[in-house]
Amino acid sequence: MRTTEAFVGLRCVDCEALHDPETTTHGCPDCGGMLDPEYDLDRVDLTREAIETRRFDSMWRYEELLPFPREAAVSLDEGATPLVECPTLADRMGVGAVYLKDEGRNPTGTFKDRGQTAAMTAASEHGAREIALNSAGNAGQSAAAYAARAGMDAHVFLPDRAGFTQKAMTEVHGGDLRVAKGEITDAGSEYAAAMAEGAEGDRAGWYSTKTFVTPYRHDGKKTMAHETIEQLGWETPDAVVYPTGGGVGLVGMHKAAKEFEELGLSEGLPGMYAAQAEGCAPVVRAWEEGTEVHEAWIDITTACNGIAVPDPGASPLILEALAESDGGAVATSDRAILDAAIEVARTEGLEVGATPAAAVSGAFELAERGEFGPDDTVVLLNTGAGNKDVDTLRAHLGEREEESRD
Ligand SMILES: *Cc1c(COP(=O)(O)O)cnc(C)c1O
Ligand SMILES: [Zn+2]
Repeated sequence: MRTTEAFVGLRCVDCEALHDPETTTHGCPDCGGMLDPEYDLDRVDLTREAIETRRFDSMWRYEELLPFPREAAVSLDEGATPLVECPTLADRMGVGAVYLKDEGRNPTGTFKDRGQTAAMTAASEHGAREIALNSAGNAGQSAAAYAARAGMDAHVFLPDRAGFTQKAMTEVHGGDLRVAKGEITDAGSEYAAAMAEGAEGDRAGWYSTKTFVTPYRHDGKKTMAHETIEQLGWETPDAVVYPTGGGVGLVGMHKAAKEFEELGLSEGLPGMYAAQAEGCAPVVRAWEEGTEVHEAWIDITTACNGIAVPDPGASPLILEALAESDGGAVATSDRAILDAAIEVARTEGLEVGATPAAAVSGAFELAERGEFGPDDTVVLLNTGAGNKDVDTLRAHLGEREEESRD
């Protein structure tokens, strides 16, 4: 297995044991806890100047801070996305500057590609031939694409509420699509049953690239913070508002900001804010109640599929990141979220998906609550392209038109 110089092992977030990534692939062998790639940053020799001389062509340009070297990567040149200034949004929020990190410009249209390139590289280095996961939709599509790239088979379990694009493209990439009735958790049950069944049989080789089951997805997504800080001229933004489902990217970005600070590349940590929809807000509820772990959300009533995650297993890590960075959590209604998507499209010309629009409306709400200062720099994560959610956005437009006629 090809690993990078500073990657010293997989740390269990529960029992704190350190495991060898060569032999440990998923979960702590001692206690079953989640694993986090650990780096000895003393072994990393990186300066701002050295990074700036590299082409801004892929997230793998930060390879010293990733588990695997770029030459080993199963890559579609993901990442290296633009950070677009949004002056109208800054005016509306009464802050110094607002930027949209436009992850819609990734190979399969979402930031899930950053997680899958890292997880699929691990799978490939471990000699896997078949991968499996359940997903709300985008991760499944992304996994099918990266599996195709690696010459592997992908088994993708999605809930029936997943979008047409995500289901269709999973199959276009050659993935084995299994649609479960219900929510992401129901797709998770079918995935788990298939994995258990296969443990003895012909599915023994199924290698999971599921959220926080593979230790590598959040480490791939963390590069969003590396890029953002570099794109701001090595200035740490005051706030990052993140549409939160499983919290993979939020946990990763917080980790990345700490890495950059420890390496002396930037100062301070951005306040991380989890934005959710009122119809599924387990993290916001836990934050407001001051608990260390969420309680599963029962009745999901939101059209924002990517964050319709009722039972995010990593909530203790998410809540810790919010507290440690002096951030927060906010939930807004679907109406406010979809209005925000349309407002961004009309005032800034940028296309945000229904799910990431929760970060935009969440930021409006935070601004209204006085959470931001007048000189603050606020970064909104556009985790997925607007065209992934055309139906939801157009339907909302239709409803508004009908209302205005009444
Ligand atoms: C998966 C997804 C999210 C949530 O991501 P996490 O990192 O798991 O919280 C947000 N937006 C989109 C478009 C997604 O596909
Ligand atoms: Zn453990």
